[in-house]
Amino acid sequence: MVEKRYPRCAHCSTRVCENRGGQAGDIPPSLEKAPAFCPMKLMPEVYAAAMTEYDEPRIKEFARLASVQEFQCYERLPDGLRTKLPRVEELIQFARKCNYKKLGLAFCGGLAYEAGLLTEILENNGFEVVSVQCKTGAVPKERISAAEKIAGPEAWETMCNPIVQAIIINRSKVDLAIMLGLCIGHDTLFIKYCDVPLTVLAVKDRVLGHNPLAALYASGSYYQRLRNRID
Ligand code: SF4
Repeated sequence: MVEKRYPRCAHCSTRVCENRGGQAGDIPPSLEKAPAFCPMKLMPEVYAAAMTEYDEPRIKEFARLASVQEFQCYERLPDGLRTKLPRVEELIQFARKCNYKKLGLAFCGGLAYEAGLLTEILENNGFEVVSVQCKTGAVPKERISAAEKIAGPEAWETMCNPIVQAIIINRSKVDLAIMLGLCIGHDTLFIKYCDVPLTVLAVKDRVLGHNPLAALYASGSYYQRLRNRID
């Protein structure tokens, strides 16, 4: 069989890069046991170049704060390591660490209730929240030649408008944009046009309460069909 030569960390059983059991100050682990498809073997030159990006002081500080935030999501108790922060709380803590004051919320109209809850929580925590829902602009789907309308061919249906969402959030000069429940594809466009730092609170899953991973967890039982080719 021809060995596939591209990075495939998701197939790795060694995870040598994690260097589990290593001590601070050790030399980096040997790659001897890493698989042939390991990006550290296939593209060694990338690492040095990427690491120089962290030398830019603002990037380095951002990366440091993200790492501190990661650390603060755990607590070490006598019976072991426990997690302690839901993502909303993590978001608030991280935004404070970065000294962010103004947040931009790009949300799906299907999650307007959740957008209201989130905005209230963020405002109660001292943030100014600019919010834009996906249907803003009231442009009919015909504008993008989309004949497939959920409410039927005769109905008016407003297109989702992630480009406008991004431009409004850019123009509002927010410190951080937050995506909440945008559809697949609409989220891709939002990311493409968003010029400010961006994070995701939740992605849309219409069936699983916006928890797409539930289908993976159940792929050995109720969602076994996912293991087969999906047409
Ligand atoms: S970087 Fe290499 S060792 Fe680490 S998970 Fe990927 S393939 Fe495995």
